Amino acid sequence: MADYPVHEYDVLIVGAGGAGLRAAIEASANGVKTGVVTKSLLGKAHTVMAEGGMAAAMGNVDDRDNWKVHFADTMRGGQYLNNCHMAELHAKEAPDRVRELEAWGAMFDRTKDGRILQRNFGGHRYPRLAHVGDRTGLEMIRTLQDHGIHQGIEFHMETTILTLLKDGGRCVGAFAYDRERGRFQIFHAKAVVLATGGIGRAFQVTSNSWEYTGDGHALAYQAGAALLDMEFVQFHPTGMVWPPSVKGILVTEGVRGEGGVLRNKEGRRFMFDDIPANYKSQTAENEEEGWRYTQGDKNARRPPELLTRDHVARCINREVKAGRGSPHGGVFLDIAWIKEKLPNAAEHIKKKLPSMYHQFKQLADIDITQVPMEVGPTTHYMMGGVQVDAESQMSTVAGLFAAGECGAGLHGANRLGGNSLSDLLVFGKRAGEFAAKFAKQTGAGGIPMDQVDAAGKKALGPFERGAAGENPFAIQHELQSFMQDLVGIVRREDEMQQALEKIAKLKLRAAKAGITGNREYNNGWHTAMDLDNLLTVSEIVTRAALERKESRGAQFRDDYPEKSEEWGKYNLRITDAGGEPNVARVPVVPIPDDLKQVIEEQK
Ligand SMILES: Cc1cc2nc3c(=O)[nH]c(=O)nc-3n(C[C@H](O)[C@H](O)[C@H](O)COP(=O)(O)OP(=O)(O)OC[C@H]3O[C@@H](n4cnc5c(N)ncnc54)[C@H](O)[C@@H]3O)c2cc1C
Repeated sequence: MADYPVHEYDVLIVGAGGAGLRAAIEASANGVKTGVVTKSLLGKAHTVMAEGGMAAAMGNVDDRDNWKVHFADTMRGGQYLNNCHMAELHAKEAPDRVRELEAWGAMFDRTKDGRILQRNFGGHRYPRLAHVGDRTGLEMIRTLQDHGIHQGIEFHMETTILTLLKDGGRCVGAFAYDRERGRFQIFHAKAVVLATGGIGRAFQVTSNSWEYTGDGHALAYQAGAALLDMEFVQFHPTGMVWPPSVKGILVTEGVRGEGGVLRNKEGRRFMFDDIPANYKSQTAENEEEGWRYTQGDKNARRPPELLTRDHVARCINREVKAGRGSPHGGVFLDIAWIKEKLPNAAEHIKKKLPSMYHQFKQLADIDITQVPMEVGPTTHYMMGGVQVDAESQMSTVAGLFAAGECGAGLHGANRLGGNSLSDLLVFGKRAGEFAAKFAKQTGAGGIPMDQVDAAGKKALGPFERGAAGENPFAIQHELQSFMQDLVGIVRREDEMQQALEKIAKLKLRAAKAGITGNREYNNGWHTAMDLDNLLTVSEIVTRAALERKESRGAQFRDDYPEKSEEWGKYNLRITDAGGEPNVARVPVVPIPDDLKQVIEEQK
């Protein structure tokens, strides 16, 4: 039996992004011993990349905003597959979470009278995103870290969880390796919170960082927890398309919130051509009204560029496919045009969108204050994840919680921009609180050494196979490439069946992956170990997407292009049935009458 270092905690948090840090702060504040593990360095979690802001109905810029409008917007955006109780909690609690962040030192942009400034974003009826220029995630991470460090939380950086440990059906910790020395470690805990983010690295074109290999999704699934809504992968409409080395990097929706418009190669604002019926009454009649909306005219309605991401992404896809795209396979996003309206436009753009200005200047040699950008859809966000209880964030496995992007329920079929950062705070806090409560009520389980030994043996497999084994980078590359082509923004049954066949073959090859070198900072080894997670989530996404025979939110089926009333009654729940994913329809959480009324009032 192996002898590895054992770290003892009441609550173990996996992930140091916004959700993980907020959960850790809350668990620690509840008086339990809290540890955080993160695959990368503190401060590097994906949350740091968030740009546009966090949605919270504070009503600082438009006093007509309140939790009811935010709730109804979130439900409409999610096409009513959301867990309505999560959407309600989120809308009600987000303002307090933002103000709390401010009290801990976050320096938000300000209104003229000194309140937190809020900006427009797609699908939000009123300006709602609290922000710090276009670097909101950086400020959020900085503030949470500063606050958390002083709570006595212990951090384990560059430490990757390989498997969750279970004792008698309950989660009792995790088994990990550290990147620096490549040594195994045991984390023994009374409760575990997964806050591992998304799965974007399963696709070729993505805005996501290297950490997003679906670890939390796969860990939970393999530990017997149910996943939900895995067919809903968000393709953000605006990623960079040129030069090739930067393809997929995000161009924040904030550009459109500040007045940026989308045009095809004929110069036409094509978004006016296709406005969904359920958004017609909220969308500008013409370009002038759209511009007035972005400048804060309360009598104007939003421009169609600020419709939900699923719709805008598909419209861009349509223009490109019809041969009306830009030279490098995207469309044009133009913020420079506002010089016709504002005398100091260039300075204004640099002030409002500093990262975008530098991103295009440095990576593409384009001055966005002078010329349009070229943009196209990029894999961005995972609506699906671990099924959790709305109040406590506990999964279907006792002692295992999930929050942030790796959790599911709040966003339904499509997430509104800005609703992730507030999700991290609202449900990160709840997960930390309820995990602490669970830990206080429960004794420590035993450490299942048979599970530890099996995980350690599996992890060392690639070294044993050595240079003769399959190249893990090649497998990862192939997976990303066909997932993009066959399970991407437009889906068809025959193509997804092909994807499943390819995944099955890659699984066999991944089991034979081999690497050379030693255990210290061995990238090949890390990639070989990530493959299992990437393949697991890719298969689950594909199976769920095949099962949902309709188009709704982020899922567009070319062979079932219409939304179906029948399918609107179900979420898809995925569990491990002896090594094969079992995809089952479960009824959408019923909306109680009082919340139904809120939705009706806001139509
Ligand atoms: C470019 C960009 C801009 C965005 N802008 C916005 C925005 O303006 N507003 C908004 O609401 N949303 C935005 N989003 C989405 C939002 O940033 C993410 O959904 C959110 O940050 C996810 O936070 P998280 O805490 O769930 O995960 P993360 O911040 O990704 O943290 C995950 C953590 O888990 C760790 N981890 C993962 N796997 C393991 C493992 N096996 N073992 C140990 N640790 C592990 C990672 O190291 C990391 O610390 C943006 C996304 C991108 C890509």
